[in-house]
Amino acid sequence: MKPLIGTSFKMNLTSTEVRRYIEVLGPLVEPLTACDMFILPPFTAIWAARECLRGSRVAWGAQDVHHEAHGAHTGDVSAPMLVDLGCTFVEVGHSERRRDHGESDEAIALKVNAVLEHGMTPILCVGEPTRRRTTEAADYVSRQLLSTMHRIPVQMRGQVVIAYEPVWAIGVGSAAADPQHVETMHAAIHGVLDGANPRVIYGGSVDATTAAPILGQAHVDGLFVGRAALDPVEFAAIAGIAR
Ligand code: PEP
Repeated sequence: MKPLIGTSFKMNLTSTEVRRYIEVLGPLVEPLTACDMFILPPFTAIWAARECLRGSRVAWGAQDVHHEAHGAHTGDVSAPMLVDLGCTFVEVGHSERRRDHGESDEAIALKVNAVLEHGMTPILCVGEPTRRRTTEAADYVSRQLLSTMHRIPVQMRGQVVIAYEPVWAIGVGSAAADPQHVETMHAAIHGVLDGANPRVIYGGSVDATTAAPILGQAHVDGLFVGRAALDPVEFAAIAGIAR
């Protein structure tokens, strides 16, 4: 399988800005056939991504979803609504949603199942909250992962993309995790989900400098990029590292 290189814009970029972003990104990544790519704009700009990316090699999706298909859930967005906008990837359980919206592993599992039931690919984020020894981090993440994954039908588990995102490595003022730490964690995640064989991608302060040594690790199946990918030229440079 090709490496998977993606980004979430988080709460950044209007639909007008997303259009401009794709105008720059599109020609830069069209020749990069060695990787699969996705972008996750805010809900308000998914329609613009669909308009600009249709027929291109970059997929698009959403940063969250409600687990119900419809109903009295003010402000929420459902899986069928995302399918209608051509989404193929949906991020679930990012640490900022766990922190800001109190999302539990159980609630996250409901969302993962909703995404799978509607034929899209969930990107399930996991990661230890603070820097700690790799063995302890692996224990934490294994428990967190299984707490969600044991609620997913066995035959569907391989379709879930796991994003390993150590919380301490995410966001302004943080640095990417050491490639050896990432490799050990990814190997542990693959071990825990033995038999399912999902893609496991790394996220946390990836940029054009840190991408290569991390992507070069044996158990790293791709990268999930935040801040650095808000610059389409840098995002294209990161994708260009995948061979
Ligand atoms: C993230 O929050 O998922 C992320 C990868 O962010 P950043 O690259 O900005 O640390």
